[in-house]
Amino acid sequence: MRIIGITGGKGGTGKSTIATALACELAKTRKVLLVDADVDCPNDHLILSIERSLLKVVEQRIPAWDLSKCTKCGACARVCRTNAIVSVPGSNPIFMENQCNGCGACRLVCPSGAIGWSSKEIGRLFSGKRGNIDFLSGELKANQPVSEFIVNHLNEEMEKTGRGYDYVIIDTAAGTHCPVIAALEKADGIVAVTEPTPLGAHDLEIILQLLEKMNKNAGIVINRSDLGDKGQIEGLASRYGARIVLEVPFSREIIDSYSGGKPAQIANVMSILER
Ligand code: SF4
Ligand code: SF4
Repeated sequence: MRIIGITGGKGGTGKSTIATALACELAKTRKVLLVDADVDCPNDHLILSIERSLLKVVEQRIPAWDLSKCTKCGACARVCRTNAIVSVPGSNPIFMENQCNGCGACRLVCPSGAIGWSSKEIGRLFSGKRGNIDFLSGELKANQPVSEFIVNHLNEEMEKTGRGYDYVIIDTAAGTHCPVIAALEKADGIVAVTEPTPLGAHDLEIILQLLEKMNKNAGIVINRSDLGDKGQIEGLASRYGARIVLEVPFSREIIDSYSGGKPAQIANVMSILER
């Protein structure tokens, strides 16, 4: 089984277009699992017109107060790094659930054992199918702070179900934050999708730096390759030892496919695997 991560520093470069096109091409002859790990804004199911089914509700632990034991000392608010607890002298602490990451520090410092555990829903996992593509995706609930928890649950599902596949394609979020790192940890081949613009080059360099720190080699896909100056991207590829594996010129058909909820046909998309 090969795990291919499709990522990129900048949003809107075409990661999902490339990931879904690659999955569709591979699925003509191989068993494929496509994982949409862009949990803040998943859209692969829209591109592939997949009707998703709920697989799992993801919960996170949160503290719960027994105020009859609270001495109003304020220690829980002082230790909370996310400012999820407000303490006014002489009053019970006020808890703002949406800011809590479940670290448990408040519970550890409470001198009177007034804090136990409860839980809240922070997101959902979904499954689906299109032809020979099996599909997994995660979705963070609005206003929840820790999307990497959802990605970790996706990774667990992938561990459980992924062994029977020839290829697992992981479509990550944009950027270099924790959910992207969590999604790429298991990938044995990574492709960064960019575009030939100063912003594309800037964000590509950040993701190449991240991959260098993770000891992962990257291939580069230049999307809309004829709409800008490729020189900066080629310079970065040479500086970071990353091969340019695919150039995708601007195409009206690709845009029409995307807006019509259909996977794009991308010439030579399988060259991504030759890196
Ligand atoms: S569990 Fe952590 S983040 Fe949540 S309220 Fe307690 S200290 Fe703050
Ligand atoms: S640390 Fe415990 S006792 Fe002190 S204010 Fe918080 S809940 Fe109350």
